[in-house]
Amino acid sequence: MQAREAPLDVEVAIVGGGPAGLATALFMRELEPELAKGLIVLEREEYPREKICAGAVGARALRLLSLIGARPEVPHVTIRAIEARTRYGSVRAEHDDAGWVIRRREFDAALAATVQARGLELRTREKLVGLHTLADGRVELVCESGLCVRARAVVGADGVGSYVRRAAGFTQGELRAQAIEIDCRPLAGELREGTVLFDLSDASLPGYAWKFPTPLGGETMVSHGVYAVKSQALRGTSRAGLAGKEAGPSVGCTLKESLLDRTAHLQALGPWRRYAERGIAPGAVLGKGPILLVGEAAGIDPVLGEGIAQAIEYGLWAARHLSAGARRGRFNFDGLGLGQLDGLLGFDLRVRSRVLELVYGAGRPVSERLVARSPALAHAGLSYFAGRSIARGELARASFDLALAGLGALRETALRR
Ligand SMILES: Cc1cc2nc3c(=O)[nH]c(=O)nc-3n(C[C@H](O)[C@H](O)[C@H](O)COP(=O)(O)OP(=O)(O)OC[C@H]3O[C@@H](n4cnc5c(N)ncnc54)[C@H](O)[C@@H]3O)c2cc1C
Repeated sequence: MQAREAPLDVEVAIVGGGPAGLATALFMRELEPELAKGLIVLEREEYPREKICAGAVGARALRLLSLIGARPEVPHVTIRAIEARTRYGSVRAEHDDAGWVIRRREFDAALAATVQARGLELRTREKLVGLHTLADGRVELVCESGLCVRARAVVGADGVGSYVRRAAGFTQGELRAQAIEIDCRPLAGELREGTVLFDLSDASLPGYAWKFPTPLGGETMVSHGVYAVKSQALRGTSRAGLAGKEAGPSVGCTLKESLLDRTAHLQALGPWRRYAERGIAPGAVLGKGPILLVGEAAGIDPVLGEGIAQAIEYGLWAARHLSAGARRGRFNFDGLGLGQLDGLLGFDLRVRSRVLELVYGAGRPVSERLVARSPALAHAGLSYFAGRSIARGELARASFDLALAGLGALRETALRR
């Protein structure tokens, strides 16, 4: 694609206007207002646009946006409880305001409107189709429209199929999971108010099924979905544990079958929709010269496929690194990876990138029992999702339960030998 006009010179180009890209722009404006004046966000769609997603956002991310007055005020269902079902029983944890379930069409459009209202440059219908590094170290971006942008730093926030990731030569990383969803009308009495349900009781599925309330057309409907990790992501897993429904090349069929089984008796409000998810891999590289990856282009939670809150947290992380680069007078993100993600986001993603095997592989019975028998762990998980501090007693109890589960796993392994 040939450039149609003189290149546009900017300091920072953000590719992708989902939560990761838009949050990066907004946090950059807070941290480095001068730098933000030389910023451009390139988004291939026009808002409001659809994004296949169940829309559960932890309050920790909403609070981050509130800190800069950018929480999108959109229709939502407040999450007041989380329920997990396993073969060994169920557990429920409650919280007065753990987060929201939103529709991405509305949430992302509202964030984009805030970006524009704050004077930041956001161009829609600009699909990136070319990326080259110039001799002077800048990056040239070419869009399908012919728009050419030259930037001193580039943020790849273009989601699961990231063009930036591919074109800049980052290791491909695996698309480690798939998810399928459908919106349905609730049956009478089916929904417990504000409860998000994770059903792990089908052990032949290397994942879980969800049921979330969702705000649709002024009513509360139900998002039903199934998430499954690909078998390649479960290295070393005993395939026997996955019974006849091993997720692999046929993961899509498995998911569809499972979703249709669960929702056959319900009134669907649209077609089912399926999409890949990029769970972050251990040791993932996130920076290369002047290019930084964020959000699902970088990798999100591989265990539950949660990515909206992480995308927003990534935005703050990226803005800090852009700000540091601007102060140094040089943008170089070499050496940044999962190990350098700081704070709770880094800790959380590092842990989750390493426990897939325990959750859905050979360790599944142990982890399911742990979930079912440790209300303290469920409460701690919900507090984290909500961004509330975890009470000391709860943390101690959850750690004790985890240690007991670890010992149980060791004993089972020893007995099997
Ligand atoms: C079925 C399903 C259910 C899910 N449910 C949840 C949930 O309940 N809670 C949760 O937290 N997460 C959920 N997720 C994950 C979540 O949707 C993503 O992790 C999240 O959207 C990542 O945000 P992002 O900004 O990184 O990427 P995206 O939201 O994907 O945004 C990327 C943006 O880049 C644009 N783009 C792409 N390519 C180009 C290009 N070449 N040029 C310009 N622009 C481009 C896209 O149009 C898009 O606007 C779910 C995912 C799926 C598939």
